[in-house]
Amino acid sequence: MTATVELRHRIGGEWTLGSGEPVESRSPAHPDRLIATGRAAVVEDVDAAVAAARLAAPDWARMPAGSRGVFLREAGRLLSDRAEVLGAELAAEEGKTLAEGVGEVRRAAQILEYFASVGDRQAGTVHHSPRAGERILVTRKPLGVVAAITPFNFPIAIPAWKIAPALAYGNTVVWKPAGPVPLLALRLAEALVEAGLPAGVLNLLIGGADLGSAMVAHPGIDGITFTGSTTVGRSIAALAAARGVPVQAELGGKNAAVVLADADLDLAVAQVAAGAFNSSGQKCTATSRVIVDESIADGFLARLVARADSLVVGDPLDPATQIGPVISDHARRSMLGAVAAATDAGVVRLTAREPEIGASGASRASGASRASGGGHFVAPTVLDCTGTEAAVWDDELFGPIVGVKRVSGTAEAFAEANRGEFGLTAAVFTRDLGTALEAMDAIDTGILHVNSESAGADPHVPFGGAKGSGLGPKEQGEAAQEFFTHTTTVYLRGGA
Ligand code: NAD
Repeated sequence: MTATVELRHRIGGEWTLGSGEPVESRSPAHPDRLIATGRAAVVEDVDAAVAAARLAAPDWARMPAGSRGVFLREAGRLLSDRAEVLGAELAAEEGKTLAEGVGEVRRAAQILEYFASVGDRQAGTVHHSPRAGERILVTRKPLGVVAAITPFNFPIAIPAWKIAPALAYGNTVVWKPAGPVPLLALRLAEALVEAGLPAGVLNLLIGGADLGSAMVAHPGIDGITFTGSTTVGRSIAALAAARGVPVQAELGGKNAAVVLADADLDLAVAQVAAGAFNSSGQKCTATSRVIVDESIADGFLARLVARADSLVVGDPLDPATQIGPVISDHARRSMLGAVAAATDAGVVRLTAREPEIGASGASRASGASRASGGGHFVAPTVLDCTGTEAAVWDDELFGPIVGVKRVSGTAEAFAEANRGEFGLTAAVFTRDLGTALEAMDAIDTGILHVNSESAGADPHVPFGGAKGSGLGPKEQGEAAQEFFTHTTTVYLRGGA
């Protein structure tokens, strides 16, 4: 990537340059490197985008689902063809490694392909009636105009898993991506436009939280699908509830990996390290707490720590890199501050590397100032929180930092896993089927992995959190239609 890309908005079938504040997308690995520039959309653009989406909605809703799917399938093909190029742009803009960036673009293509096939699936249900000569049908209709508000950490896959089902089920969309990742948003919108999507069906507005607020408050919005932090999601849900608008909100997490006494330790070390450190720990499903049985803790932790200290941190576009930067200097500082506060509160850092790390991959002395122009790097860090009440055990840090607690036995491990306000995902490592079955009942999360890392989601099954990690119907798979449609119950008799 060399040239800086000019950002554009999509409103009612036209590409427009914004008239708001200047927008800059910069590489988190090289903050002096501009990825894309432009001007933000303004609140009047929200009015125009919602009006365009409303205008397009009736024809789009009436189009057969199979015909709507043609556009999604073609956009998926375009993304597949461009996966290497767009994956490199994603790695440069968001900071995950090149392999992860390419993988995410391919995932977005797969999601578009999956929802392209909605037309081949069940459109509703038919029920017996207590009355002779009658059947009861439950049919589904789109909500209308959906606002999609997305986070930075999966800049193309998460938008795809909101926009694809929204469109497949007959809604039109106004989309605001996260501030740090406008280029990948543009790339997804370009693929859908190039696939021939009719004017107004997808509208893209690039800009800050003010645009999101304007969308949430807009009387022309019929539903809101949001992914991001719990604080923002709850405030959006409260505003939407006051207007009676349905919300699907996927929120924060503090996901536990439980390593029990009978676990396969080779498997557990590899999977916990992947869950904690891949994508610099910036997956909502990343492992950020490890609960390990005392009887195997020393051996397990020695290996996890050795793995963490060996990971290559650096430029995400360098194929040797295993951990890229975190998204911003603000995020980096807040993580380093949380680690410092934790060690002040008695938490023991087990990893040898200082969390503050230079762009070269070399660790710096604790508290040393960073070279200007350096990337937002944080070293993979393991913190032993056993016997403490440190905030780092409960608060989402959203970086390559994992806490550890030693426990005694399965019951204590599961109780600790359930601690706290979140409930997105968890992983349990055991070779005992009975214990695995017990975990399914005992651990209160939206997703549970048995003997695999806490991260990972397939497009054909429900995705989303329990407790403070989610509100409203789940995403993906058949679950997506619960949010993106509402039902009409039809009592059907012959006319005679
Ligand atoms: P964020 O909450 O800061 O922002 C998310 C989006 O909301 C952005 O587009 C932002 O501009 C917009 N926004 C911010 N304030 C708003 C407001 N008042 N009204 C309307 N829109 C507003 O989140 P982020 O930093 O982009 O992403 C990280 C967070 O997202 C983490 O908490 C992570 O756990 C969560 N996340 C959750 C899932 C999940 O599926 N549960 C997936 C990915 C990320």
